[in-house]
Amino acid sequence: MKYDCALIQDVVSLYKDNALSEKSKQIVEEHLAECGACRALYNGYSEEKELPESTEEISTAAVITYSKKIKRRRTAIVCCVLAVVLYLAAAFCSYVYLDTADPIAAGVGLLRVMVFDSEPIEIQKNPRVVIARPERFQAAFEAYVAAEGYTYLAEERLGKLHYIEKDGEKELVRLRGNRFYALWSWD
Ligand SMILES: [Zn+2]
Repeated sequence: MKYDCALIQDVVSLYKDNALSEKSKQIVEEHLAECGACRALYNGYSEEKELPESTEEISTAAVITYSKKIKRRRTAIVCCVLAVVLYLAAAFCSYVYLDTADPIAAGVGLLRVMVFDSEPIEIQKNPRVVIARPERFQAAFEAYVAAEGYTYLAEERLGKLHYIEKDGEKELVRLRGNRFYALWSWD
């Protein structure tokens, strides 16, 4: 062998990092081809260099970041879908029970009437829906429409259907109620 092992082993890391001149590289290559001890060192060195491992680490980190991102996105989507489903369920309930598909107006109205003992509240404009206290709601309804300049046509009443009149135009209102609230829905 032309070169001493110690010399080669000194520069083998430089060789590995591709930091040698062409000439020196050739010398190291020739030596490695011949010398098992230096080759073993070189191989061990190149394994220790953990280049593949660090690449793997990087890609693992990337996969983790990516999967976290996907998980976050999935959570956001699930939350959105849940919110929409809840809103639709609330809208359906408020439509069935309170004649309006606006669950927020319905909920606020219901709360004010039931908890805060409020005056009748309009929870929908068109067609008009008013929510009121359940007690004596017939009388409350008559007072409410009278205050707005309507005439209550008592003799034309048909069960839950009540007629009111203003400026020669008749309007039909359906009154219903339970022990929690009363609802007046314009036709
Ligand atoms: Zn050697």
